[in-house]
Amino acid sequence: MIQEEPIFFEDLALSDDVLDALYDMRFEKCTPVQARCIPPILEGRDVIGIAQTGTGKTAAYLLPLLTLLKQESHPTDAVNCLVMAPTRELAQQIDQALQGFGYYVDVNGVAVYGGNDGVRYEQERKSLKRGADIVIATPGRLLTHLDLGTFDLSRTTHLVLDEADRMLDMGFSDDILKIVKHLPEQRQTILFSATMPAKIRELAHKIMHNPEEVSIAISKPAENIRQSLFICKENDKTAIIKHLFADQKPERVIIFCGSKQKVKEL
Ligand code: AMP
Repeated sequence: MIQEEPIFFEDLALSDDVLDALYDMRFEKCTPVQARCIPPILEGRDVIGIAQTGTGKTAAYLLPLLTLLKQESHPTDAVNCLVMAPTRELAQQIDQALQGFGYYVDVNGVAVYGGNDGVRYEQERKSLKRGADIVIATPGRLLTHLDLGTFDLSRTTHLVLDEADRMLDMGFSDDILKIVKHLPEQRQTILFSATMPAKIRELAHKIMHNPEEVSIAISKPAENIRQSLFICKENDKTAIIKHLFADQKPERVIIFCGSKQKVKEL
């Protein structure tokens, strides 16, 4: 197998403030998606990244965008960068990553993901009013703010769609197109998706200009890891887990669940 030379963050044209934060976080080498996405994003190109969670995709767009915001002259009273994510959990994770990577960069981010309470809405409205360089938002909540005129995207020069395939699966396609209409034609658009079905290609065709496409092959599991897949009904899952544990009596186990409710049940 051909071993690729590692690429270090220091080798890329990232701003010193961003490199300082990476140093504090002990991040030295780029993951493959970072090595291939950071240079074209720094050049201002549109980029499609086909990569899953866990590949380092968040840093692949946040690091160059923080660098561009630091180096470009941009308005201080406008949302310069909009990141859209399908769920509030992902929006919160991106916001946390931004706090880390942007620790030494003078940009402020606001996460807008809703919830049913008026208090949260009021907090978001106030933060947006104070101004934010980077807004991280779920599409539905963002439209509410746009419809109510809480903030404006007419000077937003960078747009990121994270987990675009999930956003389309959740029925956000029309919302995304409505939101994109609020942004200027002249902008950089970055799209990340775990898969590349036809509907993502169509969306990319509608909202991107001559994008660079970066596809990261999913690496094979290590030789000594056995993977199994059970195709079953939702109600059968607990019984299957019980059966597996009765059989093997493992000592330490991590189980990931799709919801808080399922974690409680287990
Ligand atoms: P993501 O795919 O963006 O959800 O990132 C997955 C995890 O990898 C996160 O916990 C990141 O903090 C971490 N990570 C991302 N890039 C690197 C890197 N170059 N070196 C070490 N850890 C990283």
